[in-house]
Amino acid sequence: MVCKKIVTVCLLFMVATLCISSPESVSATSFPDVPNSHRAYNEIMYLANQNIVAGNPDGRFKPEDYVTRAEAATMIGRALKLQGGQRVTEYVDVPKAFYASGYIQDMSNTNILAGYGNGYFGVSDKLTREQMALIITRAWNFPETSGVTFSDVNVSSQSYIPINKLATAGVVSGYPDGKFGPKDFIKRADFALMLARTLNPNYRKNPSELKPIGQATVIADFLNVRTAPEANATRISAFAYGTTVNVYSKLSNGWAYVGTSSLKGFVHGAYLKYPSTIPTVPSDLANPLKGKIIVVDAGHGDTDPGASGYGMKEKDITLITAKHLRDALEAAGATVIMTRETDIFHELEKRVSIAKMANGQAFVSIHTNSFNGSGHGTETYYNEDNVMSTDNKKLATYIQNRMMVPELDMRDRGVKEANFYVIKYQNKMASTLVELGFIDNKSDASKLASDTWRKKAAYQIHLGIKDYFQYLQNK
Ligand SMILES: [Zn+2]
Repeated sequence: MVCKKIVTVCLLFMVATLCISSPESVSATSFPDVPNSHRAYNEIMYLANQNIVAGNPDGRFKPEDYVTRAEAATMIGRALKLQGGQRVTEYVDVPKAFYASGYIQDMSNTNILAGYGNGYFGVSDKLTREQMALIITRAWNFPETSGVTFSDVNVSSQSYIPINKLATAGVVSGYPDGKFGPKDFIKRADFALMLARTLNPNYRKNPSELKPIGQATVIADFLNVRTAPEANATRISAFAYGTTVNVYSKLSNGWAYVGTSSLKGFVHGAYLKYPSTIPTVPSDLANPLKGKIIVVDAGHGDTDPGASGYGMKEKDITLITAKHLRDALEAAGATVIMTRETDIFHELEKRVSIAKMANGQAFVSIHTNSFNGSGHGTETYYNEDNVMSTDNKKLATYIQNRMMVPELDMRDRGVKEANFYVIKYQNKMASTLVELGFIDNKSDASKLASDTWRKKAAYQIHLGIKDYFQYLQNK
């Protein structure tokens, strides 16, 4: 929104205990369309015997049908023994009488599977394989990562770590061609496989199905093996000089995931003698946000309320969202400097000087727009009149792209150039200004009013910032 000087257009992890028991003998239920030769027969029967899955009224399981969001909510809710039942929900498309209403509200309360932020849950929408990986890793704790990779899961993707964790645990595996199919819809049979393996490790596929890409020789007296590709990660053990190890992935940050039949982990590649045929992949598990100094600017404040609409003031929405962004960045290991943390007023010069004093490496200003109620959508600004113009545009583009996810459901107004003071006079760090949405537009305002939506938006902005540092790291 317009300021005096410049136009400022303006998951809770539910750590459930894994229920460990041996696969039970199958008896109680059977489905005519799941013969005992079916690839997921044992897993489907295991879930049916625990009343986690049920057939359709005609008795069939329909293993090749796609899983809907309502079905996923029900099965996960039953597996976690949540409240369930039928009750009033926060969603306009989920009346109390809907069969899954209780579990859908449970999913929202636990942040395992939230609605779209616009009042809708999307009961019959299908879920993709990567969405399922995200949901399962929110509902159950899978701490271990490894060097396993899929050719179609990008390292900068939000689902990269969740898919890696599930593959490491043997809960998911890719297709025979090395792909995971993250955007493919998941079928009921495949969801049953994932859920049974999540609940009962005896169903997991041997997670050691990692295929080495080559071999290398250890050339240090003792080469420490660690749990993650960084020097301060926990040391598991060490390899002796001359040991031949299988190489599973060689990362661009110099680390590699290697192992013998008895020991696998990350080692620093400087102490390995590699054949030149082993390719380097991006440093997938290294966190590019770690140790970075990021300045988060909540637009407006105190006597300058910014834009307003639907009972909200811009200064409040920007501060709440900026705090969520701070939390997400700090959780990822960044150091965050806020230009304000309370309802106070700062001149624009002060916001720039705070960022410079902090030696920030990126500056992100949060605003909301207004335009007679008729504008809607998200836009991100950069300035091209300063020495950081290339970085400014990169940062803005990564953030705008991350905001364009179905869960946020915002119109893409694009990445735009502007001379806003706070981004024009930052000449030591990449800087950008995000207009989350239009506070005076009915549809956008309902999203800006939702703390679930604001948290998700902040999380997506954090991913955009992470993308920018990943890009710097890979340059
Ligand atoms: Zn503003």
